[in-house]
Amino acid sequence: MGDFAAAEIDKWLREGGLVVTASDRAARALADAFHRARQAEGLTAWPAPNILDWKSFVRAAWDERSTDARLLLNPEQEEAIWVEIAGEDRSLATLLDGPRHRLASLAAKAHDLLCSHAPQFLRASTRSGWQQDAAAFSAWLADFDERCRSGNLLSPSRLPLELIPLLQVETAARPPLLLAGFDRILPVQRELFDAWGKWREAAKGEPADVIEFHAVGDAQAELAACAIWCSRQLSANPSARLLVVTQTASTRRGEIERAFLAHTGPAFEFSLGVPLIQVALARAAHDLLRWLDGSLNEQELDWLLSTGFAAASAQESAALQAYMRTLRRFSLERTQWTLAAFLNQRCSAEFLPAPWVERITAAQRLLAEFARRPQSPLDWAELAPRLLDELHFASALPLSSAEHQALRRWQLAVETCGSLGFDGRQLGWTDFLSQLRRSLEETLFAPESLDAPIQIAGPAESAGLAADAIWFLGADEDTWPASGTMNPLLPVEIQREAGMPHATPQLDWELASAITSRLLASAPEVHFSFSRQSKNAELRPSRLIVKLAGEANELPPELAAPASQDSLTVSIEDCSRIPFPPGKVAGGAGVLTAQSQCPFKAFATARLAAQGWEAAETGLTPSQRGQLLHAVLHAVWSGPPNGIRTHAELLSLTDREAFVSGHVRRVFAQELRPHLRQRMPRRYLELEELRLIRLVTEWLNYEATRAPFEVAGTEVTHTVPVAGLVLDLRLDRLDRLNDGSQLVIDYKSGAVSPSAWNLPRPDDVQLPIYAGFAIDPEEALSGLVFAKVRPGDTIFAGYVGDAAGTLFPGLKGSNPLVKKPFGAEQLVAWRECIEQLAKDFLAGRAEVDPREAPKTCERCGLQVLCRIQEHQAQLESEDESDSEEDGDE
Ligand code: SF4
Repeated sequence: MGDFAAAEIDKWLREGGLVVTASDRAARALADAFHRARQAEGLTAWPAPNILDWKSFVRAAWDERSTDARLLLNPEQEEAIWVEIAGEDRSLATLLDGPRHRLASLAAKAHDLLCSHAPQFLRASTRSGWQQDAAAFSAWLADFDERCRSGNLLSPSRLPLELIPLLQVETAARPPLLLAGFDRILPVQRELFDAWGKWREAAKGEPADVIEFHAVGDAQAELAACAIWCSRQLSANPSARLLVVTQTASTRRGEIERAFLAHTGPAFEFSLGVPLIQVALARAAHDLLRWLDGSLNEQELDWLLSTGFAAASAQESAALQAYMRTLRRFSLERTQWTLAAFLNQRCSAEFLPAPWVERITAAQRLLAEFARRPQSPLDWAELAPRLLDELHFASALPLSSAEHQALRRWQLAVETCGSLGFDGRQLGWTDFLSQLRRSLEETLFAPESLDAPIQIAGPAESAGLAADAIWFLGADEDTWPASGTMNPLLPVEIQREAGMPHATPQLDWELASAITSRLLASAPEVHFSFSRQSKNAELRPSRLIVKLAGEANELPPELAAPASQDSLTVSIEDCSRIPFPPGKVAGGAGVLTAQSQCPFKAFATARLAAQGWEAAETGLTPSQRGQLLHAVLHAVWSGPPNGIRTHAELLSLTDREAFVSGHVRRVFAQELRPHLRQRMPRRYLELEELRLIRLVTEWLNYEATRAPFEVAGTEVTHTVPVAGLVLDLRLDRLDRLNDGSQLVIDYKSGAVSPSAWNLPRPDDVQLPIYAGFAIDPEEALSGLVFAKVRPGDTIFAGYVGDAAGTLFPGLKGSNPLVKKPFGAEQLVAWRECIEQLAKDFLAGRAEVDPREAPKTCERCGLQVLCRIQEHQAQLESEDESDSEEDGDE
């Protein structure tokens, strides 16, 4: 607010005058400015300023004058009536809960628009010509009026209309009003102010002395320029108050926060809050209540337990998270977790903290007791905090000030939902929680202002905010003036005639023009900016801003972001290595595979027991399918009494599919864990069996074309020493070929290639270790192959000494198995590489050094632990500065 207007308002308030603002945010801003001015004058006490926002002003005036006993509805109560009306419509659009609520919300808005812009259409007789959706709404509105009349209810949208006649008949003098922060005075507001008596708008301040319009390359550079400008302003004048106006405060909040943190530190705050459901404490409370009588999906439960709000102590919280890990270790993961399923796993008694189990069971019992009969929303609203108390919710750690405020706001939302019993209705617990969720989604929460020097606000919310300088982001032609959609339940021509929001481009232009003019008169220095490029589209400057601020200029160099930001991470060269004691290590060949893929991965998995988790799936997971495939092939080649051992036996099978089918059914019966069987539909498992029968039969048909062979072993285990490290190895299969040599085989159902064994950093060393360390040196080794058992892609891929003679007779020279034969020197090179990997692991080599970033990292799952993204960003910025230096030379 410019000096002139601020001085006028301050004088008005000091003299005890009443100021009405367009929003409660503007009222708070003016009150803060008033108090700051008194403090600056050295006063220690002064009368509270008389400032009311529009809604509070109307409510106070009505309370003073009204004598009727109607219940003034709150927004949730009003919407509940509209939902009921929409539900009774029985049209397709209102059958489902979500669309019904959306339509009800549109109807409430349409009603509010009529009240504020065209109240003559509140009389049913004036709406007789309305067509289609508008006609349906007209009928809903008549129903709404009738329900309000018979229930003695009053919509807050009607309050100004009720108040106007009361003011008109009143003879007593009323104090004059000074209006502040109104970018547009609605028809009903004008009529009410006229009925009140004397009123006027606060004079606009003087236009800014400095007005700049900047064109910036892209949205990120624009944000950075604004943050750098704020930082420079505060360096020049630490007591300066800055206002950043943006239409994307909610959609780009994270990006904005990062840019300002990087350039200004924490000297900023958003004046617009976030939906309460996005605040961890409120969401955790809602999820926990929901879990007492329903299920949470795996991700929700992981998140809830990780917040610590569901536990009474840090130890309890850690135990709950450890329990989730244990469930996964036992392959007991689920996509959905009911509380009963969570509590009744076979490892629960050992791993779940007993006091927690007692509390949550007691809370569940209490809820079940209540839920036996429908309750009023008020009863549920009283029960919800009791349940949370019973659970010792959010008591593990002391709450921050913002969390205390969020808890109060949550409680308020619960009480508001409790008020839905205004008409005697009763609800089930699930409906109450759905209503609560909607309320949490619609409630915006912002912690109390800490009076930060930089305020970030939307164009409309910026009304009344005082500043020494302003920066307006996103002043391009597409977004300013802001456009929007009309209400689909009101006739277009009525919206146009009444000047309702977004009814014509001219109205959008006028509103944007009023806001821009107000901003120009709100500070001595105002900057506008727009980015030329957005998502591959070129943007032009806003015509409105060009008209008011002149043509856009190039950004001054001092506001351009440096090519690379200083990293917020303090990096320390860590050359320390903690040796691993020679001897056995769990994990088998996987340890050295990990050491080759990334030394840190081996350290984290083998020494810190870190693990990445596969998300639970509704059906079988890829690894469960892989285990079943391995089990079937093991059973097939296990020899008598049920299996076969040789090529000849394979050829002698009269019906391969029937043979495979018997094995598949036996494996499913023996290997599929009961909990999986219980939660998967029988037909689904039958289809999985059929799929496996087809796949294994296809594989046996392929093997039938081989030269004679004998299976020397399946699921063969060996313990081998490798350079001081002792590894337990397991091999899928070992074949003896027609020349007496041994072939090392690994079944794979995924996409694999022998290039995974390529030196100097193999991606997989399982078979090379087996071939190099587990095969008796007296035995001849014919090679190593992946057996790719994939539908339509059944093939051996690898290196074999004489593939045409020992594997597939008559194999052509162009076949990769023939083209790249296995040789003894390859084995020597693998052995050397593997020994070096073992030595590195034993020496404690644990650098974050992925073999092939980002591919290796995408399959790893340890990104959170190794923080590779930060490492990459730093490496990239070092590369950039190196190349710049090279260029300078
Ligand atoms: S995510 Fe990448 S860098 Fe991190 S441990 Fe895994 S492979 Fe190494």
